[in-house]
Amino acid sequence: MEEELKKKLFRDETTGWENLSEEESNKLNEVSDSYMEFLNKAKTEREFIKYAKELADENGYRDIMTFETLKPGDKVYFINRKKSMYLAIIGENSIESGLHIIGSHVDSPRLDLKPNPLCEEGGLAYFKTHYYGGIKKYQWTTIPLSMIGVIVKTNGEVIDINIGEDEKDPIFTITDLLPHLAQEQMEKKLKNGIDGENLSLLIGSIPFKKGDKKVPEGVKLNILKILNEKYGITEEDLTSAEIELVPAFKARTLGLDSSMVAAYGQDDKVCAYTSLHAMMELGEVKNTAICILSDKEEIGSMGNTGMESHMFDFFISEILNKLGVNKPNLLDKVFCFSKMLSSDVDAGFDPLYASVSDKTNAGFIGKGISLNKYTGSRGKSGASDANAEYVAWVRNVLEKHNIRYQVAELGKVDIGGGGTIAYIIANKGADVIDCGVPVLSMHAPYEVTSKFDIYSAYKTYKAFWEE
Ligand code: MN
Ligand code: MN
Repeated sequence: MEEELKKKLFRDETTGWENLSEEESNKLNEVSDSYMEFLNKAKTEREFIKYAKELADENGYRDIMTFETLKPGDKVYFINRKKSMYLAIIGENSIESGLHIIGSHVDSPRLDLKPNPLCEEGGLAYFKTHYYGGIKKYQWTTIPLSMIGVIVKTNGEVIDINIGEDEKDPIFTITDLLPHLAQEQMEKKLKNGIDGENLSLLIGSIPFKKGDKKVPEGVKLNILKILNEKYGITEEDLTSAEIELVPAFKARTLGLDSSMVAAYGQDDKVCAYTSLHAMMELGEVKNTAICILSDKEEIGSMGNTGMESHMFDFFISEILNKLGVNKPNLLDKVFCFSKMLSSDVDAGFDPLYASVSDKTNAGFIGKGISLNKYTGSRGKSGASDANAEYVAWVRNVLEKHNIRYQVAELGKVDIGGGGTIAYIIANKGADVIDCGVPVLSMHAPYEVTSKFDIYSAYKTYKAFWEE
C-alpha cells in the first residue's frame, strides 16, 4: 500500500539503466560509439566547427550568405571566424512566434601557447603556455599532450598544426618535481602547488651542431630549424598563431559494465555533439530551430566569437531580412517569444566528494538529462533563473517523450557556483533553462559521463525542436 503510494507520489529515483529496453540500449550504444569516435577527431573549437560544417553540408545546410531569400524548410548556417557557428531550420510558423534555440559551447579548458612561446633553459627547449579556462594546474603536468591549432603567416597563409594525435607522432608533456625533492612543494596549498609560469611544455633537447663548436641557444635553434623545414616558419610567425595543448588521450569506454565515457573536452562537446546531431535529423519544424555552437564560454563568453558578441543577433537579423519580414524592433520581439535550452554540462554527484553536493539537489550520473533552474553562486548571484512556467513547459515536453530527467543545483549553497551562456540569451528576453549532461571530474584532462545521459541529451534536444 505505502509502496504504491510512494511510487505514485515520490520523485522517481531509479537510474536510466533500470528500465532500458533492448532497442533503446542498442540506440544508446550507437550514439555513444559515434560520439567517442567524434571526440578523437575534434578536440579544439576550430576542429569542432570544421566537423560541424562538413556534417551540415552533407545534410543539406548552406551558408546563409549564399541565400537571397529564405522560406520555411530552408536549412542555413553562419560560421563565425572558424570558431563558432549558428545553424537554423526555418519553421512553418511565423518567426514572430519565437525561436527554439539550443545553445552549447565548443571550447574546453586547455593550455594555449604564449605569443612568444619558445625558450631554452638548461639545455632543454620549451613552449611557454598560458592556461585557458578554470583548470586545476597540477592535473595538467605529466600527461601526454598534443599540439593543435594554426599558424598564420603575414601573407595570409594558414598552416594547420596537429602533432600528437596520430600514434606515430611525438607527444609533449609538462614535467613535475620528483617526490624525493618535493618537500617544499608538498607543503603548499594545492592551488599553489604548480605555478602558472611553470606550465611550460617540453619540446626538445638536441642542440644544433656546427663542427665541434657549441652554439649558444643551440637547442632552440634546432627546434626552429625543424619548424622551418616542416612549416616554412620563423620564430616571429609563432606570434600570429593559436596553438592549443590538449590531452593526447583517446576517448574510451569506462567501466566493467561499459556504462560510461572517459574523454577530454566533454564539457561541452557532449551537449554540442548531441544537439548538432539531433538537428541533423530534423525534417520540417513548426518553430524556427536554432543551434548555437559558441566559443569562449570557458573564459566568460567575451570577444567576437563569444556569446556576448552581437554576431548571433546579426545571424537572426539576416534571417529576418531574408524572410522579407524585418521591421523596427522585430529582433527584440522574436527573442521575447523565444525558448532556449542552454545545453551545458552539470556537475555530476561524486560519492568521493559528497560533501560539496546536496544529495537531494544534485545531478547523478546515469539518471538522465539534468535541468538547472538556476546557476550563479551564493545568493544566486549572477544567475539566470528559469521561470516556473517555463520549467513546467520543458518538463511537459520531456514527459510527453518519455525522457528521463533530473533537476539539480551546481553544488551546495555557499560552496561555489558557476554559469553558462544561459543569462546572455535570457537577457535578450527569451525563456532559458540550463539543460545538460552531468559530468565527473569536470574541467580535468579526462572527464567522465554516462552513456545513458548522453543518449538522454540527444533525445531531449530532438524533442525540444520537434515541439
Ligand atoms: Mn560548459
Ligand atoms: Mn566549463
